[in-house]
Amino acid sequence: MATECLFCRIVRREIPAGIVHETEDVIAFRDISPQAPVHVIIIPKTHVPSLDRAMDASMLGKMSLAAAEIARNKGIAEDGYRTVMNTNSAAGQTVFHIHMHLLGGRKLDWPPG
Ligand code: AMP
Ligand code: ZN
Repeated sequence: MATECLFCRIVRREIPAGIVHETEDVIAFRDISPQAPVHVIIIPKTHVPSLDRAMDASMLGKMSLAAAEIARNKGIAEDGYRTVMNTNSAAGQTVFHIHMHLLGGRKLDWPPG
């Protein structure tokens, strides 16, 4: 746990968040600035700054499976959805606690900007 990390603070319930899913290892909450009708952030409860620093394959798999389960629960799985991990500055990562975006509920353009 990183004391000042925004997402660690959400894990510790020091900052309110719209939590939609939680297991022993991951937590998911609504993005504060949604870019689609469904926009959920999935994080591990342990602090890892980015995908570039990740070592735990199981944790990465649990994030992906949580995204798929949330998508099914939100009713967007059949139409389709996107999972995205922005890594470091060129990709626009702004919060340095590894996270997966789950986006859906509208047609998503490709390629992304
Ligand atoms: P990224 O730009 O990939 O690092 O994504 C960080 C995401 O976290 C952005 O989409 C932000 O809107 C979102 N975000 C920042 N602060 C909060 C917060 N307090 N609660 C929920 N989402 C947040
Ligand atoms: Zn953190």
